[in-house]
Parts: sequence; structure tokens; C-alpha cells
Amino acid sequence: MTPLADLLTRRIRHAGPMSLAEFMSDCLLHPEHGYYTTRDPLGAGGDFTTAPEISQMFGEMIGLCLAQNWLDQGAPSPFTLAEIGPGRGTLMADILRVTKAVPELHAAMKVHLIEASPTLQATQAKTLAAYEITWLESVADLPQAPLWLVANEFFDALPIRQFTRDGAGWREAQVGLLNGALTLGLSAATPMPELAHRLTDTKDGDIVEICPASTPIVTEIATRIAQHGGAALFVDYGDWRSLGDTFQALEAHQMVDPLARPGCADLTAHVDFDALARAAQSAGAVASQMIPQGMLLGRLGISARAEALATKLSGDALKSHIAAFDRLTSPAEMGTLFKALALAPTAKLLPPGFDA
Ligand code: SAH
Repeated sequence: MTPLADLLTRRIRHAGPMSLAEFMSDCLLHPEHGYYTTRDPLGAGGDFTTAPEISQMFGEMIGLCLAQNWLDQGAPSPFTLAEIGPGRGTLMADILRVTKAVPELHAAMKVHLIEASPTLQATQAKTLAAYEITWLESVADLPQAPLWLVANEFFDALPIRQFTRDGAGWREAQVGLLNGALTLGLSAATPMPELAHRLTDTKDGDIVEICPASTPIVTEIATRIAQHGGAALFVDYGDWRSLGDTFQALEAHQMVDPLARPGCADLTAHVDFDALARAAQSAGAVASQMIPQGMLLGRLGISARAEALATKLSGDALKSHIAAFDRLTSPAEMGTLFKALALAPTAKLLPPGFDA
């Protein structure tokens, strides 16, 4: 049993079953035993690999997209360039390198990172040592200024609540105990006002997930964009309107039982892009249509960039470059499972690659 499993078992014995959100939150960010708190989970030696870790081309395309949109919005100065959940800092490093081509952007930017894990914050400080960076506790601390913000595989790491439809009510997934071991069960059916809009497109037995923590985060970001200008780019795996059980655990690049080793496996759920768009619209910003990652990267010019890089490569380096391009863009890999959504002050000011 992991130290966190022991702690959670004792808590459930004392206080009864906990929601999936509470369980996920402790597994990922418990100050002593949390998954992100205690390790760098990324890369070949870790538990999962993300787009910026696969190839520099991902961050280059995102960086050029942001820079073009900053120019299109009148190049406001100063402005905030921010990332939430920056992992190893690789995406921001690629964004900052490629945007050196726009020196006035570098002169105007103030870079802010929001990272919950002290371990990953230390890694980011190393990766980005050449730049002046400020770390913030929360998106609520972002300056009231024009904001260009990115989040890659951030929202999938936020705790979810999971509900199974039962008549006009919903039964919530809970972590409880069976013969002393952590086990998933369902609460009694209760009405859920937050899920009123899902009574029309679900039937008995359907599962939907909500991510309560994402709403206040998107609200803070969208409010700044609506009031001061800017844009946000969210890339993650997920779809429009959650349907089905997507709660999953990864350890050493393998799917594992999410309850088996609390604190030692990465827990995620698919992102409901409709929920992010609604939160942004309620805060006065415009949300783009959701677009598959492969299509977005294609529109931003990844093929030309891949060809240019390929001319300098041969042998194994060329092979792995081509494999990385496929991984980012191919429908069989990340190309369609991963989606992107952009926020802007108006439909006309959406970043390149996105449709209103
Ligand atoms: N964006 C990076 C890392 C993705 S992993 C990449 O694409 O490689 C998820 C990241 O979000 C990690 O950096 C993790 O520590 C961070 N994170 C998770 N929950 C968070 C929270 N509530 N607040 C801030 N950062 C969080």
C-alpha cells in the first residue's frame, strides 16, 4: 500500500466515502505524497510524454500563432505572456526562442508561470534560466493587463466529478472501502442543477463528468482577455461535451487501475471543451470552434517547418524527426484525440488557425 493509500483509507474509515474530485486532488497534489508534488512525470523515463516534449515544432507553431495574434491586436505593451501547468518549461522555452524573431514582443512581454508542483517549478527555472520569469500562485494573481496565455495538457489534470444518469437524477462516483481496500461506488441518485443541460442529450446509465475547478480558472483568464485584450490557447485531449467514463491512470506509459497506487500514477480525465467555452463566454470572451490538434498545426504551417528542419537531418535523427511529426499530427496518434480551443476579445481577433 502506498503511504497516500494508507492515509486515504484512514480518512474514509473516519469520514465516509469521498468524491472522485477529492480523491484525484489528493493523488495529484497532496503536499507530501502527491504525484505532481513529488516528481517530474514527463518523458521517456517518466509516465507520459506531451506534445512539447515530442518536438520543438509544437511550441514553435504555438509561439508564432501567439506572436501573430499579438501583432494583429495592435502589439500592446506591456503585456502578460503566461502558461498554466508548464511541466518542464519546454513549451515556453520553444515559444520564447521562436518569438525572438519579433524583438518588440520580447521587449513588451512579462512572462508569468502558474505551477502547483515545487519539483516542476525548479525544473522550469532551469529550462528558462535565460529569461526573467515570475511564478504566480494562481491565475487570480495574473496582472490586469493584455494577456496571451497557453495551457497544454493542463485541464486534464484537474479533479473531476463523475455522474451516472438515473432517471431525472444522477449517482455520483465515490471512492469508498470494500474489505479494507479502496473501491469505486455510486451515491444515491440526486438532482444536479449543474447537469440540467445534460438531461436532454443523455439517457439512463450514461456517464458524464464535470471539472468544477476549471470554471473559475477560465473565468479569470477570459475576464482579462475581454477587458484588456489578448488570447488563450488550450490544447488537451477531450471532446465537445463529456460523455462516458474517461477517468484513467498512467504509470510508466501503461494504463493502470486508478485506485491501485494513489500518488504514484498520473490521473487524468478527458477535457470537456464545451464547458471551457461556456465559462469563457459567461465571462465576456469569445471562444473559437474546437479544432483537432493535427488540423491546427497543419494550418499554422507545421509541414513547411518540418521540411525545413529535415534538410539538416539524416539517418536516425531524420527518422525520429519524421516520427515526431506523425505523432503530433496523424489521426492515428495525437492528431485527432487532442483538440484546441482559443479565446479572444472578439471573433475577429481569434488567433490564426482558429474559426469563430
Ligand atoms: N504543459 C506541460 C505539462 C503537462 S502535465 C506539457 O505539455 O509538457 C500537467 C502540468 O500541470 C504539470 O506541470 C502539473 O504540475 C501542473 N498542474 C497540475 N495541477 C495544477 C494546478 N491545480 N495548478 C497549477 N498547475 C497544475
